[in-house]
Amino acid sequence: MSTFQGLGVSPGTGIAPILRMSDPVREPESAPALSGELRVREWQRAEEACHRVGRNLLDRAARATGEARAVLEATAGMAVDSTLLARIRAAVLENGQPGPQAVWSAADGIATMFLGSDMGARVRDVQDVRDRIVSELLGLPMPGVPVHDTPFVLVARDLAPADTATLDTSRVVGLVTQEGGPTSHSAILARALGVPAIVACDGVSNILEGTVVFLDGTTGEVICNPGSELQDRHASAAAAGTPSFSGGCTTADGHRVEILANVGGVDGAVEARDAGADGIGLFRTEFCFLDREEAPSVAEQIAAYLPVFRAFEGRKVVIRTLDAGADKPLPFVSSSTEPNPALGVRGYRTSWRDPGVLEDQLEAIAEAASKTSADVWVMAPMIATAAEASAFARLANRAGIAKAGVMIEVPAAALAARAILEHVSFASVGTNDLVQYTMAADRQLSSVSTLNDPWQPAVLRLVEIASSHARDGRKPLGVCGEAAADPLLACVLLGLGVTSLSMTWRAMGAVSGQISRATLAQCRAAAGAALAAASPEQARVAARSEIQPAASASGPSPVGGGVGDRDAVHSARGGKESGVLPQAEKAAPKKAAAKPAVKKAVAEKKPAAPKKAAAKPAVKKAVAEKKPAAPKKAAVNGDDALQTRSVLVGSSNGLHARSASIISQTAAGLKVRVRIASARGGPVDASSMLALMSLGASYQDEVFLTAPEGPGCGEALETLAELIGRDLDHD
Ligand code: PEP
Ligand code: MG
Repeated sequence: MSTFQGLGVSPGTGIAPILRMSDPVREPESAPALSGELRVREWQRAEEACHRVGRNLLDRAARATGEARAVLEATAGMAVDSTLLARIRAAVLENGQPGPQAVWSAADGIATMFLGSDMGARVRDVQDVRDRIVSELLGLPMPGVPVHDTPFVLVARDLAPADTATLDTSRVVGLVTQEGGPTSHSAILARALGVPAIVACDGVSNILEGTVVFLDGTTGEVICNPGSELQDRHASAAAAGTPSFSGGCTTADGHRVEILANVGGVDGAVEARDAGADGIGLFRTEFCFLDREEAPSVAEQIAAYLPVFRAFEGRKVVIRTLDAGADKPLPFVSSSTEPNPALGVRGYRTSWRDPGVLEDQLEAIAEAASKTSADVWVMAPMIATAAEASAFARLANRAGIAKAGVMIEVPAAALAARAILEHVSFASVGTNDLVQYTMAADRQLSSVSTLNDPWQPAVLRLVEIASSHARDGRKPLGVCGEAAADPLLACVLLGLGVTSLSMTWRAMGAVSGQISRATLAQCRAAAGAALAAASPEQARVAARSEIQPAASASGPSPVGGGVGDRDAVHSARGGKESGVLPQAEKAAPKKAAAKPAVKKAVAEKKPAAPKKAAAKPAVKKAVAEKKPAAPKKAAVNGDDALQTRSVLVGSSNGLHARSASIISQTAAGLKVRVRIASARGGPVDASSMLALMSLGASYQDEVFLTAPEGPGCGEALETLAELIGRDLDHD
């Protein structure tokens, strides 16, 4: 039985075969041009690969729901898009490129069409499709999280938060990464989802795919080919269950402690409420929009925040404005070119460049708050100076939110807490970032994970400084970093003077259990002992000697310890199998007008039949007022006479993947070839989704449709104009 050791970051055990997330696809090396007779066969091979990838994505779409389904269907459309196929065809037949190279160069050509436009972020989608087709041609495993019908342990070099957020928790019974740190957002998400997880596990990439492993997300062990003893350990971990929390935490001598929950959306909020949380101490709003290319509208944001507030009617909800950047890039506010993103324009700093996004968010929060009785507080991430705190509070107050606060995640903010707190109503210590910035140790990097320990005395000293400033200013100071989920450390934080603790709901039972066995005086003694220690290890021992540890208290991992687990079929996890995040998977399915047609077209390799669509009255009116509805005749450059017609884009996200997919499939089924232009580009073939996206047309932009005059021309223009005028994102 070989054993691998990593850092346990999400408690629970699991037993299942491993499946590996494949490494990124590399650009194929250039090769000599193919001879004439090989070219036709190579083109056929490439075309078939595109269709296989399209069908595969559609199969996955059929198993998904809501937003994820729509995204997969749109991506399937990209794989068989006429512009992409035409470029691949030309690269193979005309230039003699082998299939993989042809796909790579064709996709890169399309990606450059998007660069510099509003669609820049779509480049990633095109590259994703490219990687899939190249993998198919080269016989490599598909990139991304593997899809499998039976439970498995996912092994990866590292995992982006967006991948973790959309994990199918009914299949993934455990997560092991070679890289990553204990407070990386993937680790945080794994805890929120209740998936046992281990990071910084050296050598795990060498385990053969399919090998059955036992993993323990508390001890960090991965053991291959487990025998009956480990099966028993797994069964008893499952039977032990999560220590429950019944609300109302007090110390042994009766001091009330506010236990709040960290959530990323409505699912987590409901779970936290049902688990007895006093309120929400950190609502990570960026988790609602991780997969978004464009800024969410105010209305969309209200829809995301309101149910979270409603889950806590009459109680406190601390909502954090978007913390984009570093390992949580949001394309609509983050730059992808910074050499050191954790030290760059992240969190509140993104509003320097684009204040509108923050202003919209504050408006949405205020509006949602006004519809509930929840006591809504708002805070900004990554504040470093008093001037920033003051500017943020002004904006929040102007939006109508009375309680504005800041996170203390940068050493400068802890040291300057006195000046900062003069401008705001409260502060919350984000220990995950405070540790990474104090210790100069990237929280995602396994090689520095031992430095990334919230028990570091230097970090505790900063918490103490911030807390003493808050006490002097009579302002509440909570902790919402992962440190609050460590039962013993939670006692130390109370001893340092923090006024509330916020954590994943799964940790509330273990934390409140430990607190209820300690007096406030013991907590203070533990804090003093930890501050005086010379290392995190000594700090733990010193604190423990002041407080009798609970049986389930702080384990080897500063963040994984203490939370027991409940059974699932193959994994012993805390709580239900739904998590805070997969908004995309869990959102109510939205209607997409031409979905069945799209599906059929990809599956059968033929164009979809045209669909008639009734434009919304408002759009109809706008079109009628702005432009004559009747098609016009025009002759362009001496070509055949063309009929033209214009329409305002009705989809709230503009001509993006979903709407472009629906329009292009409908156009492909028309007898007449329609071309479309916008003020920024074109005309392009309306039957190519990628070409439509390259027009960069936003909501209510005017686009111009043209078709050669002849039978069916007027009807074709009318059909497409009506479709374009509708809000295909929300129909
Ligand atoms: C923190 O830094 O401790 C925190 C709570 O914020 P996040 O983990 O989202 O960066
Ligand atoms: Mg942070």
